[in-house]
Amino acid sequence: MTGTTGTTAATEPEFAGLTAIVTGGGAGIGAATIRALQSRGATTAALDLDPSGAPEGSLQIQVDVTDSEAVHTAVNRAAAELGGIDIVINNAGIGAQGQVDANDDAEWARVLDVNVVSVARVTNAALPHLRRSSAPAVVNTASIASMLGLPERVLYSASKGAVQAMTLAMAADWVGEGIRVNAVVPGTANTPWIGRLMEKAADPVAERAALNARQPHGRLVEPEEVAEAHCYLASPRNRSTTGVLLPIDGGMTNLRTRS
Ligand code: NAD
Repeated sequence: MTGTTGTTAATEPEFAGLTAIVTGGGAGIGAATIRALQSRGATTAALDLDPSGAPEGSLQIQVDVTDSEAVHTAVNRAAAELGGIDIVINNAGIGAQGQVDANDDAEWARVLDVNVVSVARVTNAALPHLRRSSAPAVVNTASIASMLGLPERVLYSASKGAVQAMTLAMAADWVGEGIRVNAVVPGTANTPWIGRLMEKAADPVAERAALNARQPHGRLVEPEEVAEAHCYLASPRNRSTTGVLLPIDGGMTNLRTRS
């Protein structure tokens, strides 16, 4: 890319001239991703139930990603105000706990709608804009839950397994037209979500210490570390990277650190 100011490609910010929408951009990993994209020159929109926590300088659009009509309106508004959409970060998600008998049909439908169908819904709404982009990229936020067989996480794991499968299938469909699709696969991350879970514990301090101890590298993943991966996978500098499921988990998925 060559800027109008005469700067060279080497000194130009990585995402100069590019626009990104980030679902769940009002908190946690999504907000960190917006900060990281902004710092590299992107203009951004946070699409969130509560976008008020999105970083300063980002467009804030209040939307429920389970509402198809609202999603189309929100995505088209972002495209109009940002001047197109080059990057979609499908990051909004919710948790679900329990064994297979823990969640009723309504809860299954709700979690799959937020975590899975929304990825298709938001991507579809953005697709006409991505097709006009010179550097189109979709990055989904999956989870190690679907790779590890975590106890008491049947519904959540199923939803994130579907996100991984969709990532690969969409990448295959669009590799010929240059729309890249990848996923970040975070381990347990230090976000408001985990904060809320810790608060429910009888002894939050002990619970957090135990959670840290369960991580191979002895601590939670920081949201900024997941944001770095979102940026890497979305970057116009990585045009050959598609169909990648990238764990950011301190080695939880791939390392055997204890016998
Ligand atoms: P968070 O709860 O801290 O933030 C999630 C954001 O998504 C919130 O701002 C919330 O308002 C928004 N959101 C939720 N439902 C929405 C909806 N229906 N419409 C629009 N916005 C909605 O969560 P986080 O920890 O930052 O998680 C972000 C993503 O990372 C999720 O997809 C989650 O599954 C995934 N993830 C998180 C962890 C973790 O340990 N925190 C680990 C692996 C994967």
